[in-house]
Amino acid sequence: MNEITAAIPRPNNLDAFWMPFSDNRYFKAHPRLLARAEGMSYYTPDGREILDGTAGLWCCNAGHGRREITEAIQRQAAVMDFAPTFQLGHPVAFEAAARVAEITPPGLDRVFFTNSGSESADTALKIALAYHKARGEGSRVRLIGRERGYHGVGFGGMSVGGIGPNRKQFGALLPYVDHLPHTHLPQRNAFSRGQPEHGAELADALEALVALHGAETIAAVMVEPVAGSTGVLVPPRGYLERLRAICDRHGILLIFDEVITGFGRLGANFGAERLGVTPDILTMAKGLTNAAVPMGAVAVKGAIYDAVVNGAPGGIELFHGYTYSGHPLAAAAAIATLELHRREDLPGRARAMEPYWQEAVHSLKGLPNVVDIRDFGLIGGIELAPRPGRPGARATEVFRRCFDAGVLVRVTGDIVALSPPLIVERHQVDRIVGTLGEAIRAEA
Ligand code: PLP
Repeated sequence: MNEITAAIPRPNNLDAFWMPFSDNRYFKAHPRLLARAEGMSYYTPDGREILDGTAGLWCCNAGHGRREITEAIQRQAAVMDFAPTFQLGHPVAFEAAARVAEITPPGLDRVFFTNSGSESADTALKIALAYHKARGEGSRVRLIGRERGYHGVGFGGMSVGGIGPNRKQFGALLPYVDHLPHTHLPQRNAFSRGQPEHGAELADALEALVALHGAETIAAVMVEPVAGSTGVLVPPRGYLERLRAICDRHGILLIFDEVITGFGRLGANFGAERLGVTPDILTMAKGLTNAAVPMGAVAVKGAIYDAVVNGAPGGIELFHGYTYSGHPLAAAAAIATLELHRREDLPGRARAMEPYWQEAVHSLKGLPNVVDIRDFGLIGGIELAPRPGRPGARATEVFRRCFDAGVLVRVTGDIVALSPPLIVERHQVDRIVGTLGEAIRAEA
């Protein structure tokens, strides 16, 4: 224990905090607390280092405790803690939006601020509906998502999302929603490096939904360029291009949820840029502020903004927003983060590390129970065979072993997902993958 960790409070009552997406009973019986973070690592309250193989929750892309971001937040807190952005404004929010618009794909230069990925998803869906309504196509109310898609936990994102357990606890979801099939084809694509070869034709399921419902009823399709939360599903070559073409043919808006894939994760500012497909609406969060202050955003094409804003009779144009949209501390953190990205070329750094990362992650092939490995950018997914009758148990044990050995990985079902900060160095890649390999062997 050092001076800093000694000063950190040690809760002796873990009862009150109802932890999100957690096994509360297990955690509270076996707490795993993180007390401090710096660079590539977390530290436990007793000072043990945990190398971060997941950038927190896919969000601290520039590494932890970046001084430039911390100081920007501190400066802003001292100048102005909060100002509304309903019918008022403050310079930092406008500046942050302009900085975001500098790096979004061409044409997506209007930016709506939220506080999270979930709020970004719901905001994007509402803007899509408002856009069609403004253009006199109010019949376009149907929203299309994809199986195994994750778009957060609001009613919109949850409904369009395609994860059974996230949906079935909550009864009625949005009524006019449909789903495309997911793109995970292990029989044809197992152990693919980068984008898999097979499966572009799965996008044609959108044509089938158009035939079923009529294009005039469909507002938007929302997908993650690379699905992260359900275990790293990389789009087959040509798939997103095909989805884009079908949307264009039928006047359907294409929304990319880039909450994970934005801000350098795929070796470019956004997945859209890396994959060469431009959506009409793009959602982001997480890496926007390096997770130092919660913030999300939705970037839309100028034509969408124009239709909704200029098409309104006068007064408020979009009846939507959050008290904290463009919060000064978050906006200051976003500006500092984007400046760091530019100065250190974090997307370029991720791209340069990608071949080494790919090699390292795929070196786990052949270990017991490893049934597939996927990667793209600085993301890796290692799929394990489930223990008979106990889905998720093997990967959970692997996670716990890694943590005890000083490496943080993330699991979803029986898939281990890796997404280190983009400042990761080769020896740290070796340590993450080496520790994971040992844990997988130990759980054979
Ligand atoms: N969309 C995607 C693609 C995500 O991965 C996530 C979170 O992991 C979200 C939305 C939800 O973000 P938040 O937890 O900030 O609401």
